[in-house]
Amino acid sequence: MEEIIIIGSGCAGMGAAIYAARSGMKPLVIEGAQPGGLLTTTSDVENFPGFPQGINGFDLVWKMREQAEKFGARIESAVVEKVDFSGSVKKLFASGGKVYEAENVVIATGSSPRMTGAKGESELYGGRGVSACATCDGAFYKEKDVVVVGGGDTACEEANFLTRFCSSVKIIHRRDQFRASKIMAERALANPKISPVWDSVVSEVLKDDKGFCRGVLVKNVKTGDVSEIACKGVFVAIGHVPATAAFKGAVDMDAEGYIIPHGKTIVETGVDGVYVAGDCSDKFFRQAVTAAAMGCMAAILASS
Ligand code: NAP
Repeated sequence: MEEIIIIGSGCAGMGAAIYAARSGMKPLVIEGAQPGGLLTTTSDVENFPGFPQGINGFDLVWKMREQAEKFGARIESAVVEKVDFSGSVKKLFASGGKVYEAENVVIATGSSPRMTGAKGESELYGGRGVSACATCDGAFYKEKDVVVVGGGDTACEEANFLTRFCSSVKIIHRRDQFRASKIMAERALANPKISPVWDSVVSEVLKDDKGFCRGVLVKNVKTGDVSEIACKGVFVAIGHVPATAAFKGAVDMDAEGYIIPHGKTIVETGVDGVYVAGDCSDKFFRQAVTAAAMGCMAAILASS
């Protein structure tokens, strides 16, 4: 039996792993379907303390991983699908039929991108023109026209990033102003390759005769008018869904699936020995630094 298992290998999981390892708990990290988590798909992280020149998201989380391993954390490739937290020994049922047992568990499973559900979106997702990650797929759209859907920091950041490759980037947003922070919104609007399409939602992703994206149908939510925008790529950036399905019934969660903390701190779940850290619980801050800090708190409580 393990003293502590950390489920998830993003900033929250690695924050927990570094602290648990340094306290001598020999943590086992189950890395999940996306090793390194969502930060691996971010380009420049400019706000993580200690990196005045900024750092690539992948590099940042990989440095955390290296640091955790240096102190004895072990990282295993598996996905936890079900849990049993009813006894003092916590049981984790993972992909491939593997069962893990632990005294303490930190849930740090993060979140995955939310999609619009527009007609054609899922059919063209993953290599046919619809993507949820400009960092991963932007380079495939050299000198092409693309659209980004959303109005938050992610949409603005993705749009800016895409201008490195693409001829033009339209940001389609359902309101007439961005939700993004002032600096990110101003940066996007000042970029000559970026233009906003306000008060609009994508109602359909259109395909060409080879089955690749050729454009989107966009509905103006104020007038009801529908128009077509020609584009080869659609980058969806409308927020995230917590990756918590495996813990349903085992810990308290809200209607969206975010784990609700119970106790004196934001990382206690109310189940003895089970802690939570990062975006699977925190829908407000969702920053690399806050996720890593939650991981740290969870590990300190687990080791005390
Ligand atoms: P977000 O702030 O929740 O923004 C989501 C955007 O998508 C909103 O503009 C929302 O519209 C829109 N939206 C949601 N559901 C939609 C739907 N079904 N159809 C159309 N539009 C929809 O998410 P985010 O941009 O991913 O940012 C998440 C967090 O990460 C934030 O705290 C952000 O500050 C942080 N972040 C920081 C950085 C950075 O500092 N470098 C970069 C990326 C993200 P409404 O505005 O109308 O609600």
